Amino acid sequence: MPTPCYVAIDIGGTKTIVAAMSAERELLERRRIDTPLTPQEGLSAIAALVSEVAAGRAIRGMGVSAGGPLEYRTGVISPLNLPKWRNVPVKAALEDRFGTAVSVDVDTNAAALAEFRFASPECTRLLYVTVSTGVGGGFILDGSIYRGGQGSHPEVGHQAIPARIPRGGSVRCACGAAGCLEAIVSGAAIQKIYGVTADKLSTAQWDEVAYNLGQGLRNMAVIYAPSLIALGGGVTIGGGQRFLEGARAVVQEELKIVPLPEIKVSALGYDTALFGALALAMQAG
Ligand SMILES: [Zn+2]
Repeated sequence: MPTPCYVAIDIGGTKTIVAAMSAERELLERRRIDTPLTPQEGLSAIAALVSEVAAGRAIRGMGVSAGGPLEYRTGVISPLNLPKWRNVPVKAALEDRFGTAVSVDVDTNAAALAEFRFASPECTRLLYVTVSTGVGGGFILDGSIYRGGQGSHPEVGHQAIPARIPRGGSVRCACGAAGCLEAIVSGAAIQKIYGVTADKLSTAQWDEVAYNLGQGLRNMAVIYAPSLIALGGGVTIGGGQRFLEGARAVVQEELKIVPLPEIKVSALGYDTALFGALALAMQAG
């Protein structure tokens, strides 16, 4: 009998990854496809890949990580990054098909759970923040994902910050509000504000982005009072140590009343989405 596995499914805006993994994060099988434009095609492609990667192994649990908004209890997703996927019952479809428990959550919550489970299992107040194309996060409180009212997901990227930006002025976010962190430090914002992609920023520009991120982290630290802030995403990884130090310096300087949290780069590198889906699968099974 082959050993049982967990199935991790990451439904991204452009790519979907389906993988069979062991509880020790050992990758058994992995498939990557362009995310189908319609949910009908998407669900049938995903189901076929699940059978393929499981390859006859018993499936202990499945985890699905997707963009928000979604309803985590029912596992119905309407990811903004997939315009034709509206009210798609991913959880019910996979549970009916495979007879295995499926846990569905927002990608940043999944990443936060993975950071907790695989990198900092002792941490009781863990805030995960990703700085990539957008900015988002998830907060793990005593081992569970912190939820907002009506099952909502707190949007840390849409807090206003006192930013330093070239030419001054304010920046309006795609969400409609002014001065959102995401509209200032995300990969898309960097390109808009500085006219270059993050990898082409000068040292002085990186320092400015680090300062702005630090203001956002300071707000999060004073409100959530986490013991650890783990930073992930392409901009964080691209910025490297100096970027992290710059953001941390702002928090250190400006955080007055609550204890200074540890601030570090996520231990999961570029694989947060997949490890996130695995953490959800382990929670489901
Ligand atoms: Zn916003």
